[in-house]
Amino acid sequence: SITPCRSLLDPPTNQPGERSKHGSILSGNLCPSRVNSQRKSTHWIISGEKTWISNGAYSDFLICLCRTSDDPRDGLTQILIDRREHGYEVRGIDKIAFNSQSTAQIFLDDVRVPVANTIGEEGGALKRTLAHFEKSRAFVAMQAVGLARRALEEAVAYAKGRRQHGKVIAGHQLIAAMLAEMATQVDAARLLVHRAAQLFDAGERAEMEAAMAKYFACEAAVTVARQAVQIHGGNGVTRDFLVEKLAREAIVCPIPEGTTQIQQLIIARALTGVAAF
Ligand SMILES: Cc1cc2nc3c(=O)[nH]c(=O)nc-3n(C[C@H](O)[C@H](O)[C@H](O)COP(=O)(O)OP(=O)(O)OC[C@H]3O[C@@H](n4cnc5c(N)ncnc54)[C@H](O)[C@@H]3O)c2cc1C
Repeated sequence: SITPCRSLLDPPTNQPGERSKHGSILSGNLCPSRVNSQRKSTHWIISGEKTWISNGAYSDFLICLCRTSDDPRDGLTQILIDRREHGYEVRGIDKIAFNSQSTAQIFLDDVRVPVANTIGEEGGALKRTLAHFEKSRAFVAMQAVGLARRALEEAVAYAKGRRQHGKVIAGHQLIAAMLAEMATQVDAARLLVHRAAQLFDAGERAEMEAAMAKYFACEAAVTVARQAVQIHGGNGVTRDFLVEKLAREAIVCPIPEGTTQIQQLIIARALTGVAAF
């Protein structure tokens, strides 16, 4: 059986010895890609490549968003491609951080997939895919909140222990101001993510709210992690202290699931009704 897509965020509990299936979402047509498909009787023939696919290296299947018609309103179809049954090539990408997950380039070379593997309505996947992005953006935002919170905790502990100029550095006003700003950023980011999550729970769309959460939380993580390094002084750039790793991880957050700039465009479009892209 195939694990539902939701399990990408929430892996199922396995029986001993059982291995769960891992999937990747290949959102080819929402980012630049060369994935095309042609309907041929009972099968789709799919060729193309897509970079930056999370979980790609150890995926068992892909949910591939393919353009299947020229309909400008949609024309996108989700097709499930099984790695063993249909075959696709994977090349891992070496990253500076976010290494708890693989990121890969996927190559599809005239892959034959039964039409029965079409998910949902043919040519009608755009709305479903965009709704998925709202949730995945809030998910990345919550990762950023967790990262920023850990950076804050590390900074508070260090500031209470390190002494300079006759007192612990937490007692210096400029360090205290930095800690206050960091804590406020973490809480504001968390509240924005919770607001988006409450809308999901209520079954409502949250495009702007998820974009605000992703934008703010990811930029907050970068700022807070950087300030945590600063509070550690020279120690902050050594591998002996966690904050250097947190700073490397934080810098990735504003990129996947739509960059900070793309979130800003989504927010502004919701405010003005004028689309910038
Ligand atoms: C760790 C990681 C995991 C990922 N996982 C997946 C995945 O599972 N599936 C998937 O499909 N993709 C995935 N991605 C891809 C990710 O969504 C893209 O990297 C991201 O959307 C940016 O696209 P790009 O890299 O092509 O950058 P570009 O689009 O080339 O952007 C370069 C710069 O230009 C800015 N820019 C671009 N367009 C505009 C505009 N219109 N206005 C203003 N500024 C603009 C961007 O904000 C950025 O600063 C992942 C990326 C990373 C780093």
